Amino acid sequence: MHVPPIPTLTAADPQIADLIERESQRQHDKLRMIASENYVSAAVLEATGTVLTNKYSEGYAGKRYYEGQQLIDPIETLAIERAKALFGVEHANVQPYSGSPANLAIYLAFLEPGDTVMGMALPMGGHLTHGWSVSATGKWFRSVRYNVSRETGLIDFDEVRDLARRERPKVIFCGGTAIPRTIDFPAFAEIAREVGAVLAADIAHIAGLIAGGAHPSPVGHADVISTTTHKTLRGPRGAMLMCTAEHAKAIDKAVFPGLQGGPHNHTTAGIAVALREASTPEFGAYAHQIVANARALAAALIERGFDLISGGTDNHLILADLSSKGIGGKPAAQALDRAGMELNYNTVPYDTRKPFDPSGIRLGTAALTTRGLTEQHMPQVAAWMDDAVSAARKEDEAALERIAGEVRDLLAAFPSPGWAATA
Ligand SMILES: *Cc1c(COP(=O)(O)O)cnc(C)c1O
Repeated sequence: MHVPPIPTLTAADPQIADLIERESQRQHDKLRMIASENYVSAAVLEATGTVLTNKYSEGYAGKRYYEGQQLIDPIETLAIERAKALFGVEHANVQPYSGSPANLAIYLAFLEPGDTVMGMALPMGGHLTHGWSVSATGKWFRSVRYNVSRETGLIDFDEVRDLARRERPKVIFCGGTAIPRTIDFPAFAEIAREVGAVLAADIAHIAGLIAGGAHPSPVGHADVISTTTHKTLRGPRGAMLMCTAEHAKAIDKAVFPGLQGGPHNHTTAGIAVALREASTPEFGAYAHQIVANARALAAALIERGFDLISGGTDNHLILADLSSKGIGGKPAAQALDRAGMELNYNTVPYDTRKPFDPSGIRLGTAALTTRGLTEQHMPQVAAWMDDAVSAARKEDEAALERIAGEVRDLLAAFPSPGWAATA
């Protein structure tokens, strides 16, 4: 049963309610390893399902374009103050609708169309919005890209520095969506300072690790920090921009009125709740457990012959090249899903296959750590993954079904925020 319960919706719209109920069950039964996903608390779910969705509040606290902000202003202010305290930043904007619009606001704040932006190439682990060709950021701006080393899978800072000196980008993005290793913010900052670029740290994936002290912080190194709120940070779908006081005005103006209209106040409340949760000692322990689980899972996968990009992980994320397993990333991901393990197929650096049918899979431990799994469970997870990949190669559907049942049996002992057995 969905938590919080949805009896009114069930009466009013049984079709949608049924699909939601089944999704909460699915999220309970599956080993969710999509690196960008998590389970939010029931408190966050409640906040996002409130009457705050009814309210328009274009502008910022104390400077709104609509009346009736007596309670919205303190909600947004609480979210901002909590973000500032948690990350130790001078300024926070909690209004971006999601990570991609947050990044677009950075372009609007610091670049003119046609100006040069530098980011990690998408196939190397960067994000679309860091200047990739199919994104508006690659179409409307001149983008140049850095890679990872073919040998080590790590960023080569000599290459980054040479590229920055040659191309003189106005903004440099660091961070990405498929980076299994610690991001060296000081190294990026030194290069950005040398070429006079604004350094934007996109911590969407690792914000929760940073908040919990399990990854170094970009604060004091990056000029602006962009993050989603729904990945390791474990809040509702949304985003934040954080910066020094120097850039506060430019960032705020870029978000509103530059890009957006009214903020999503129900999301803002959910972000505030999540930020409060993330400031507790329990969340610090959670963040460190995510990394411990990822390290244990990586070690167990390597033992089973999986080829991990960069040879392992420092954070929540693992990127595996399945070429050595004799299967493509897509058929593997689809088979793993049927075996009760949810992850995504992913391009690996220097992939010889096409983006829609790449060589790799990407997985993360944020969600399974929320469920309460620890290092001791990771050898079993690796064994299931290995067995499922073998079964996929042999088209052994019965084996995939058996594994899905075993996964379900294990997870039955671990509570799933958002779902409870019917009383
Ligand atoms: C997820 C992600 C984004 C985009 O977030 P959306 O909310 O999906 O728009 C941006 N940057 C990075 C590095 C991400 O991982």
